[in-house]
Amino acid sequence: YVQVVNIDKSFQGRQVLKGIELEIEKGEFVTLLGPSGCGKTTLLRIVAGLERGDGGKVIVNGREIIEGQNKKEQNIGMVFQSYALFPNMTAFENIAFGLKIKKIPTQDIRKQVEEIMDILSISGKENNYPHQMSGGQQQRVALARALVVKPDLLLLDEPLSAVDAKVRESARILIRDVQKKMGITTIFVTHDQLEALVMSDRIVVINAGEVMQYGTPEEIYRRPANKFVAQFIGTYN
Ligand code: ATP
Repeated sequence: YVQVVNIDKSFQGRQVLKGIELEIEKGEFVTLLGPSGCGKTTLLRIVAGLERGDGGKVIVNGREIIEGQNKKEQNIGMVFQSYALFPNMTAFENIAFGLKIKKIPTQDIRKQVEEIMDILSISGKENNYPHQMSGGQQQRVALARALVVKPDLLLLDEPLSAVDAKVRESARILIRDVQKKMGITTIFVTHDQLEALVMSDRIVVINAGEVMQYGTPEEIYRRPANKFVAQFIGTYN
């Protein structure tokens, strides 16, 4: 469903991604895991079409991703680290934003926004501005905003990094539940080993721009492909 074929990327002559190959099945939840600076975000940005690889290509649902291509056509949902919402818009307006751009009739927008707010248990917060909601609630609004357009692919870049441990744990469960329920193929970025192990169908362990291992949490935990993976997985917390 998602194919990453031989992606290379250099910044100022320094190679940060080296021949990345990945195949992701429809509906799968795949985590990019690796230490800070290993290239996770860069890879995600290339998959999103926000950045161009120096070589190789990315195919999503049979179509090649072209940098700068209209996001509307690509139908990729994204949530980045900060979960930044539009501060001057209510929760409802934030979530409805992507649907408005698509020129969907107002009545349908209301119905779809209410549906997703219900799934994410934030019904009743329609008229709240971001500053009138907790971090966890803001996070759900950001997730709702990405999901309401029913994306072919959902990209989550360290979406849980800004929230405290308790919210983080329930958010992990929530994200997985909703993702499964909607059957949305998801790529999740984290540097947290435990998070990757508990959430993923498969994990891509990356170090210094190279895929070290691609496998299920169990495979990675029990049969690390090399010393790096063994140490990185073995040393969490
Ligand atoms: P983190 O977990 O800290 O976010 P990461 O694994 O997501 O790290 P990237 O953000 O992809 O890593 O960065 C990979 C490398 O590429 C880093 O060394 C970074 O400094 C460098 N880099 C990323 N973007 C740029 C850019 N626009 N210009 C120059 N160097 C960049």
